[in-house]
Amino acid sequence: MSESVRNEKDNIRRLVLIVDDEQINRRLLGRIIEGEYDVIYAEDGEQALDLIRERQKTLSIILLDLIMPKIDGYELLNIIRDDHELSRIPVIVLTSERTAEVKSLQLGAADFIPKPYDMPEVILARVRRSIELAEDNIMISATETDTLSGLYTKKYFFQHCRRYDRYYPDVPMDAVAFNINRFHLINELNGRSYGDTVIAAVAAQLRRIISESEGIACRCDSDVFLMYIKHCDDYDSILNSITSGLNSAVGNSRIHLRMGVYRNCDKSADVEERFDRANFACNSLRVSYSTSFTIYDDTMRKRAIYAEKLIGDMDAGVANRQFKVYYQPKYNITGDEPVLSSAEALIRWDHPEYGFVHPASFIPLFEKNGLVHKLDQYVWKEVAVQMREWRDKFGITIPVSVNVSRLDIYDPELESMLLGLVKENGLEPYDYILEITESAYTDNSAQMTETVNKLREDGFRIEMDDFGSGYSSLNMLGSLYIDAMKLDMLFIQKMCEDAKGMKMIQLMIDIARFLNIPVVAEGVETQEQYDLLKKAGCDVIQGYYFSKPVPPEEFEKFIEAMIKQH
Ligand code: C2E
Ligand code: CA
Ligand code: CA
Repeated sequence: MSESVRNEKDNIRRLVLIVDDEQINRRLLGRIIEGEYDVIYAEDGEQALDLIRERQKTLSIILLDLIMPKIDGYELLNIIRDDHELSRIPVIVLTSERTAEVKSLQLGAADFIPKPYDMPEVILARVRRSIELAEDNIMISATETDTLSGLYTKKYFFQHCRRYDRYYPDVPMDAVAFNINRFHLINELNGRSYGDTVIAAVAAQLRRIISESEGIACRCDSDVFLMYIKHCDDYDSILNSITSGLNSAVGNSRIHLRMGVYRNCDKSADVEERFDRANFACNSLRVSYSTSFTIYDDTMRKRAIYAEKLIGDMDAGVANRQFKVYYQPKYNITGDEPVLSSAEALIRWDHPEYGFVHPASFIPLFEKNGLVHKLDQYVWKEVAVQMREWRDKFGITIPVSVNVSRLDIYDPELESMLLGLVKENGLEPYDYILEITESAYTDNSAQMTETVNKLREDGFRIEMDDFGSGYSSLNMLGSLYIDAMKLDMLFIQKMCEDAKGMKMIQLMIDIARFLNIPVVAEGVETQEQYDLLKKAGCDVIQGYYFSKPVPPEEFEKFIEAMIKQH
């Protein structure tokens, strides 16, 4: 769009700010552009900043001298660039030194005008062009950018990446994905507006990186950022500079990022796919507590393919009964001799190609895309039928606990579905125990409390799984009603390492005592662990010490032994 067309169309005279400490220069420049623009003047950086703030909505461009008293041109450029609103206003630098030009362009200047002002036509053309470009950009940014971060939205981001590739097909590029570690907790602990501040600060850092090394960035989900930049080798220093910038912006060194890099990406793959890979690498750092990055490589590619295959095969797996429920006994150890008290149902996949697949390989995948819900329902049903079978065969009910994943909690049918299963098989809800992992409580404690309370009213027992791995506050625990606490296996593994490990166990058992609920320890493998846990007051034990999870036929020997015991 040319200037004349634009002016004919809207007929608005643009407002220009000229900043120069020398009156003669202000006058000379003013005379050149007054014919076409409204002009205001500032004599130094401070005065300029006041005017810019005051007129930021109407100001079309700033013509800025670099050497001035008080705030000089460089500093002013910095201030403008770091301010989300002001950075929309283009700045043309007025300079007599060629070296200053490069530096000012790096600082975000739109263009430069050399002194002395001996070519009025060139000056006018540059002013026109810069305004035009900025206005086009603003039009873009009104629709294409995310207001909180000022970065592109996902859709436009991919378009811009493709356009970049078209212009520069031979430039090697990296696809980078960022994520803020435990962002939901940052929100929960400090409030949403603080969360927004963190998002904006991360975005500011990414804007800085892409302006320094040429690139494009976007925020695609709440705390997921993508960046497409010229290939570089030193991601350590990129991450370090982001971290230090971030820390000083939010005044908190506990914000940690994880970053996945797909280096020198294969341009024959679709852009979205390239970022899937970067994301895949980034997500492989999910459990990390510190700031870290990883590079996408061939083993990751193989893992991604394996994951895709498992996802694709699930439906057939359910239909063909490839999923098997195994049972691991839990023993009550409060008396003289351990007594079988219940079992935990654990799923396995007898996959036609890969053989026996453990849940750690597919449950986390299925949790991400919702498939876990279907699988859990399958397991719950198998378990209810199995309990009924055992009761018919042995004349007693063996309580069984099933795993309930966080997604299940949001299902409005959850309660009626479980009640239906129990009823159909003539069981009591009390014998059907639900294990819910601790971190699911911290994700959404309000919804969780409501669901858990309803299920308990129906008579189900609730066990909090993996206790100690999440971030439950004592406050939350006090307001939550659960029937047992299951210690995270990691604590059992660390228990014998040093005095601190044992202290942690004792502390958690004390919390359970305070809440008046029994403590279950899982992953118990050795006599030493068993003895220490018994001494510490643990009530129920599950682990290889007694048995691995076994198929139902094999589990029957534990039932038979228990019946003999009595
Ligand atoms: P979890 O609920 O914490 O289950 C305990 C895990 O510890 C099981 O792993 C069990 O086999 C293992 N284990 C038991 N005793 C010992 C021991 O003495 N030493 C060691 N090293 N490990 C022991 P598994 O069966 O591989 O299951 C892993 C996770 O997958 C489970 O962790 C649970 O979160 C999930 N999962 C299993 N089945 C289901 C299911 O039906 N639905 C859902 N949503 N998740 C399931
Ligand atoms: Ca469990
Ligand atoms: Ca567990």
